[in-house]
Amino acid sequence: MASGTCFIQSSSLSYALLPFLYRRTTLLSTNLRQLHSFSSKSLTTKSPLMKVFAQARRFSPKQVEIASTDDILFESPLKIVKYPDPILRAGNKRIGTFDENLKKLVFEMFDIMYKTDGIGLSAPQVGMNIRLMVFNPAGERGVGEEIVLINPRVQKYSRKMVLFDEGCLSFPGIYAGVQRPESVKVDAQDITGENFSVDLSRLPARVFQHEFDHLQGTLFFDRMTEEVVDSIREELQALEKKYEDRTGFPSPEKIGTSKARKVVTGFGRS
Ligand SMILES: [Zn+2]
Repeated sequence: MASGTCFIQSSSLSYALLPFLYRRTTLLSTNLRQLHSFSSKSLTTKSPLMKVFAQARRFSPKQVEIASTDDILFESPLKIVKYPDPILRAGNKRIGTFDENLKKLVFEMFDIMYKTDGIGLSAPQVGMNIRLMVFNPAGERGVGEEIVLINPRVQKYSRKMVLFDEGCLSFPGIYAGVQRPESVKVDAQDITGENFSVDLSRLPARVFQHEFDHLQGTLFFDRMTEEVVDSIREELQALEKKYEDRTGFPSPEKIGTSKARKVVTGFGRS
């Protein structure tokens, strides 16, 4: 990824995001941590943004349900939920209450994200099935800007796709290539419940899409080609075995060896 490239695509950013997107550009190239680039291959170069059509299949009624106070209760310290825990595949409720408890949860999510060397984290990854994500591509408290997106919705994806090596805190030590649109236009609410729009590109767009997938119950290997999955199959199976040993239950999903794996295609909005 070229350093010094401006991530801004339009002027529709909320003021809160501007400092992050302008200032982090040089740092991103040297401090990618959990999400590190190995290649960035342009596959198409047609119109920069295209409308998202009816690709909302994963947007089930369950996901639009509003979270109750109980749904947002959490225990400190938070713990990272690892694959194949079914929490990662469950529906995630919209947040309707923007209170002190939510602020505390966001603070603790950043805390565990930094401690585990992540640059992005979604609520289901800490056992909370609600539509919330945090990220800071600098990966350090006090460095870069902390981004909080609540009830995010994707308005547009770029037609241009890029291949990029991703990691995930729910899959410790596993990195592999995932192809995604290079940029994305997002609507969301901030920690006070205020609506804002933002156009993300490059690393912030990559982190956002990875975390947004978590809110849809989609995991990064769902988007990998069979060839790429083959390269991490044993590591995924090792996580499944670990889950079985820890819980005494059979793994709720198995990557297996078959070619019949369901591959997620398209990028839906929510
Ligand atoms: Zn992840």
